[in-house]
Amino acid sequence: MSLRLGTKIPRPPKGEHYDTLIVGGGPAGFSAAIYASRFLLKSVVVSEDIGGQLNLTDVVDDYPGTLSIKASELVSRFRDHAEKLFKVPVYEFISVKKFDKIEDEFHVVGSNGLDVYAKTIILAVGSKRRKLNIPGEDTFTGKGVSYCSICDAPLYKGKDSVIVVGGGDAALEGALLLSGYVKKVYLVHRRDQFRAKPFYVNQVLNRKNIEILYNSFVTQIKGDNFVKSAVVLNKDGKEKEIDIDGIFIEIGFEPPKDWYQSLGLETDEAGYIKVDDWMRTNIQGVFAAGDATSKWKGFRQIVTAAASGSIAAYSAYTYLTEKSSR
Ligand code: NAP
Repeated sequence: MSLRLGTKIPRPPKGEHYDTLIVGGGPAGFSAAIYASRFLLKSVVVSEDIGGQLNLTDVVDDYPGTLSIKASELVSRFRDHAEKLFKVPVYEFISVKKFDKIEDEFHVVGSNGLDVYAKTIILAVGSKRRKLNIPGEDTFTGKGVSYCSICDAPLYKGKDSVIVVGGGDAALEGALLLSGYVKKVYLVHRRDQFRAKPFYVNQVLNRKNIEILYNSFVTQIKGDNFVKSAVVLNKDGKEKEIDIDGIFIEIGFEPPKDWYQSLGLETDEAGYIKVDDWMRTNIQGVFAAGDATSKWKGFRQIVTAAASGSIAAYSAYTYLTEKSSR
């Protein structure tokens, strides 16, 4: 959903008090909201972008019970489940900037005037896209450099060729999608084995207009007003310049670790929020769920995110009940 310029962004009433404030509107956040509501916690969801990484996926066919479903439809169902069925208010276009402990509550402030109090916080904020950090990448972002095949593939309909970088599910899913729009897709991967699911690998290997460049790195992106070519270096030291109409960088995600650390959250060596089995962080009353956490790195799925959200909500509930019985 987008808002017209000048539209006032709805936010929770200033100074409102909640049992649980959930930050993030992806599978982890909405699952936390559903469960928090079941535990009769007064909850609210605030999110920068509803759907999180699901917005970057086309079709989901591995979330139990939904068979094959458009990702956007699954997002709507998650939201409706929390908001309509369980009456948890959801506010979008809001990012939390900081929270400070004041007696037994957190004072939470954020963008668009967010200014509320919460006894517990569940951080389900996901992670941000990794960049290659090569010459030309920033210059041509939005001018042929894309980080989302699912979002931008149709823009390349009828074009000659594109590069997709990466060897995970997103890169292979993206290459397959793009192969239906452009004449030729180069899939550039830094190793000689894919980490993507065999389901995608088998399809890519059998797709005639996808050429795989193993053990290869894109080292530079060139163009004028728009991308025109990319320099690809092989591990053997061989370099070639490939003419392309666009390049899709699908090399995973990384956490906003500076933000986490500024909040006093302990992170692992890669910068993901450290949680225990009950999704508790090092700060009492603050829980984390989904891709933002150090759990299940390398196997970040909708179902694991949703599971961790439910656990975080349960932990918030037990934390509050234990506290009130002291
Ligand atoms: P990912 O699984 O972390 O894969 C990232 C890929 O990019 C890896 O192949 C990695 O290479 C490569 N890479 C990382 N940094 C690089 C760099 N600096 N230069 C070149 N290559 C680099 O990320 P993802 O594919 O975005 O997927 C993220 C999560 O979402 C995963 O859990 C995935 O299963 C899930 N997902 C699922 C679906 C689906 O099931 N439909 C679709 C999309 C994503 P190495 O292999 O050498 O490490």
